[in-house]
Amino acid sequence: VMTATSDAAPVEPNGIIGILGGGQLGRMLAMSAAQLGLRTHIFCPDDACPAYDVCAEKTMADYDDVNALEAFANAADVVTYEFENVPARTVEILQNFGANVFPGSKALAVAQDRLVEKEFIREAGAETAAFYPVDDVASLNEGLKKIGRPAILKTRRFGYDGKGQTLISDQMNDLDLTWEAANKKAWEEIGARPAILEAFIDFTCEISIIGARSRSGDIALYDAAENTHRGGILRRSCVPAKVSAGTIRAAQRIASDLLERLDYVGVIGVEFFVKLDGTVIVNEFAPRVHNSGHWTQDACAVSQFEQHVRAVAGWPLGDTVRHTNAVMENLIGDDVKDWRTCLQSRNLCLHLYGKRKALPGRKMGHVTEISPLS
Ligand code: AMP
Repeated sequence: VMTATSDAAPVEPNGIIGILGGGQLGRMLAMSAAQLGLRTHIFCPDDACPAYDVCAEKTMADYDDVNALEAFANAADVVTYEFENVPARTVEILQNFGANVFPGSKALAVAQDRLVEKEFIREAGAETAAFYPVDDVASLNEGLKKIGRPAILKTRRFGYDGKGQTLISDQMNDLDLTWEAANKKAWEEIGARPAILEAFIDFTCEISIIGARSRSGDIALYDAAENTHRGGILRRSCVPAKVSAGTIRAAQRIASDLLERLDYVGVIGVEFFVKLDGTVIVNEFAPRVHNSGHWTQDACAVSQFEQHVRAVAGWPLGDTVRHTNAVMENLIGDDVKDWRTCLQSRNLCLHLYGKRKALPGRKMGHVTEISPLS
């Protein structure tokens, strides 16, 4: 098994970074790689993916296409990914063909399963919401007795942007149902799949830390962003976050511990709930560049995308110092129709992902408003 801090040679300029996944994150990674004189090879099954417009090479194939993976492993000097649901088997196949994959398979395995992830975070000494594994209606009933209501039922795997989760309220809305029948309904709502029941956290705000670890084990952390969600989707990230310096330090310490314990290489996004007393609870982490780190493109000399490219290429990490305040807002669905207005505003940096169709809930771009440090 290849450990993350492998002795693979650093990628030279003009070298090829292979990226699994071709969404907007892959697109922005490819643009940052290009800035550093590196080329990217995007592997994605979707022929209309945003990253195809800006990469040097592409492979349109499924993640279980062994022949395509072999060619990809041979073509790329290093392989990374832009989404956390990359099948473990895909990474294994690539590694068997000699590819260096960063972040390594441990981070991916932990991040892909909410139960394993919560246990890992607890072992690292950080706080999480109380949780209970749910495999059927009976264990859901048991979990609710232990954790109480309200609670959130989430599938262990393949959830994103609030999908695969349902709130179990402490109010009975449907008077025709018994509590047990309501639980059964919640179980069916998430697709009757292995799940985790989480206590509902009464947080004052949500923050995230974007951090990076290099192949030689150096760690660099960005300032905390304060995040607002709507319908389970990130709407806005503000920096600086309106929380105490102590809260930010606590969150940064946890992000740093996770990077070490995962023997991580690349950029990670760690999401936290902040309680009234200023203490932090880890919600989850993403083993990739993160939507709540897009502000770094316009407020820092080295963005999270460049940082990730540097880390996986075996280059030194860049400075994470913030030069301006920033408010990043996602353009979701029809929001993108306002692109012209964005162009006319001062200090507004527009980023569009080149997606052909503005479907509801689809991330089409983002705008970051920058302003002098206060
Ligand atoms: P997740 O997919 O786990 O990141 O959840 C998406 C969003 O739902 C979070 O950013 C929170 O706003 C909310 N949420 C998730 N889990 C909890 C929880 N245990 N308590 C309160 N709110 C939550």
